[in-house]
Amino acid sequence: MQYAVNEKGFYGDFGGAFIPEMLFPNVEELRQKYLQISSTKEFKKEFDDLLKHYVGRPTPLYFAKKLSEKYKTQIYLKREDLNHTGAHKVNNTIGQILLAERMGKKRIIAETGAGQHGVATATVCALKGLQCIVYMGEVDIARQAPNVARMKMLGAEVRPATSGSKTLKDATNEAIRDWIGNPEDTFYIIGSVVGPHPYPDMVARFQAVISEEIKKQLQEQIGRDYPDYLLACVGGGSNAAGTFYHYLDDQRVQLFMAEAAGHGIDTDKSAATSVLGTEGIIHGSRTLLMQTEDGQIVEPHSISAGLDYPGIGPLHAHLIKTGRARSFPVTDRESLDASFMLSRTEGIIPALESAHALTILEKYDFGKEDIVVLNLSGRGDKDLDTFMKYMDDYAK
Ligand SMILES: *Cc1c(COP(=O)(O)O)cnc(C)c1O
Repeated sequence: MQYAVNEKGFYGDFGGAFIPEMLFPNVEELRQKYLQISSTKEFKKEFDDLLKHYVGRPTPLYFAKKLSEKYKTQIYLKREDLNHTGAHKVNNTIGQILLAERMGKKRIIAETGAGQHGVATATVCALKGLQCIVYMGEVDIARQAPNVARMKMLGAEVRPATSGSKTLKDATNEAIRDWIGNPEDTFYIIGSVVGPHPYPDMVARFQAVISEEIKKQLQEQIGRDYPDYLLACVGGGSNAAGTFYHYLDDQRVQLFMAEAAGHGIDTDKSAATSVLGTEGIIHGSRTLLMQTEDGQIVEPHSISAGLDYPGIGPLHAHLIKTGRARSFPVTDRESLDASFMLSRTEGIIPALESAHALTILEKYDFGKEDIVVLNLSGRGDKDLDTFMKYMDDYAK
């Protein structure tokens, strides 16, 4: 079985580039250049330097002793929450801004839902002195005020998307429209392993630093470079792709992904795409997505904005279809339980997204000697308002 993308941009049945003709020159230019540029010594050196000195990598691989005792297994947390800007997203925006720079692009656009990718993009645009325009649904602008303020503080312009449900998918449509209208000078930084080829492969490669470090750190700490299990949450799938990347062909390692079930997979408020989704095309690639029988996208729901997306990346659709990875649907309530649990067991407040992955520790019976590496994709500061609402339920 093959898990790497083929030359046409497919992972098995999924992927490709299903785009309007007017977008073809932009996507083709990127396809021709992304590997060529990112494989040069000079690119790698600047990427590595920035990850080390600006982002703060390598992030620790932390043996969580109390958590391990609680679940009677050997749990290591990969601390992506300690990255500059608070999550894994910046690994990717650093990679893409360096590409944009080398392709001579002066104007950067991005889409954002909760604002995490918008902030990571605004950050690297400030770093490089490039113009930054972030499209964001009007509804999201209203409910994610702190991240809107961060983007503006960093000098970005936040443009409201006012069509449809005024959320992430509408912001994505606006960004694509902008790109079509400005093919010469504009680079579109996508925030996950979604979109037309080469985006899923390109973003996975930039995030692959996560598993590259896990390998080295496990070797140092336990004397072997692979775990028995890798756990990560999946919205579009970029932190999971980075965590799995160097282990995709290693069948000794089981790959577990947590998806947002919202109120539950048997309700109409869910975002568990691998369970509820069917094959179709969304934002330029063939993948699994939540849609009605006549192909209308179903509005997703999750308590965590980063998982509130009606599709998953084509790599993940392929991993699920081939049985290489297993998916666990996780409800809003279970993710809250896990957020409070980790905070009080290890003194680490996780992002609500990352807390979804933690619930797998409840759902699966790991062996006492099993090595379990869980990617803690981000920190919980951004979710404090939500946690405050539920604080009384978790009174000590
Ligand atoms: C955006 C985000 C996610 C979901 O995105 P992926 O592309 O699936 O990784 C997960 N965790 C955090 C902290 C995020 O900000």
